[in-house]
Amino acid sequence: MNNSTTKKTGMVSLIGKTNVGKSTLLNQLVEQKVSITSRKPQTTRQRLLGIKTEGSNQIIYVDTPGFHQGHKRALNKFMNKTALSSIEGVDIVLFVVDALNFSVTDEHLLSQVSTKDNQVMLVINKIDKVAKKEKLIPFVEEVTKLFPFLEVIPISALKRKNIDILEKEITKRLPVGDHLYPEDQIADSSERFLASEIIREKCISRVGDEIPYRLSVVIDNFKEEDKLITIDGTIYIEKSSQKGIVIGEQGKRLKAIGTAARKDLERMLDNKVMLRLWVKVKKDWTNDRSALNFMGYKVV
Ligand code: GDP
Ligand code: MG
Repeated sequence: MNNSTTKKTGMVSLIGKTNVGKSTLLNQLVEQKVSITSRKPQTTRQRLLGIKTEGSNQIIYVDTPGFHQGHKRALNKFMNKTALSSIEGVDIVLFVVDALNFSVTDEHLLSQVSTKDNQVMLVINKIDKVAKKEKLIPFVEEVTKLFPFLEVIPISALKRKNIDILEKEITKRLPVGDHLYPEDQIADSSERFLASEIIREKCISRVGDEIPYRLSVVIDNFKEEDKLITIDGTIYIEKSSQKGIVIGEQGKRLKAIGTAARKDLERMLDNKVMLRLWVKVKKDWTNDRSALNFMGYKVV
């Protein structure tokens, strides 16, 4: 048979410290928002997929929670475990670091990666922040001493710089194999899950620095009718003092969260959305296994 249309399919995992820009990069690679981002660490909590199909090639990207050390809560343990397990069985690992900022956490994570049988590319992100590009040279030298990377690719996920080069390097190495998803599918998450993530993203950017780690969103109702999707969501936090912060003076903050989330949801779902939000306290949920399961973080 003529094999000019031989299908190729590969799994590519994004690994790196929290806040280096993995989710921003994933969204750029699939050209859609499938993973929420923020300037605060630990925004991504679950493993999730972004899928890009072009002609005979399908790349399945796996976004992971950023790895971080020194946290003892059940939620943090769950996130670290999810991050490391997602490099098993993938074809390529993108090891993402922040330009000029390589720390012991990166090194520790890299040592975990090196024990696995993967092809690893070093992706140096946020190069838009580096005024003097020659500063990257000693940085690259130092990091590449630690690991035999397949490629070293400096990028800016935010400014969409060198994303095409990165994609080309990945495509070159895709193994032959049938596609795993229909070509128009860009994520494996349900609309319900994406809705909860978008609401969480809007909360994260509007509350202080501590609350994001104590906040979770559960979708209680997701009803699709002809011209309207009705979504009810509950924002869970750990203390009643945090409740006041999320709601804000005269409910203003919650209203702003709801409006911003609704706009994103309408764009994503291509439909009118009615969004109703509640705020509830669930004491110490980040350290409570049954609560974690209820929130959708599958701890076994
Ligand atoms: P993750 O924790 O690794 O998934 O990181 P995120 O994708 O959530 O990004 C963390 C922060 O870094 C966000 O505020 C992003 O806007 C920012 N960021 C991501 N990529 C870039 C980049 O290329 N340049 C700059 N200057 N900021 C970036
Ligand atoms: Mg992330």
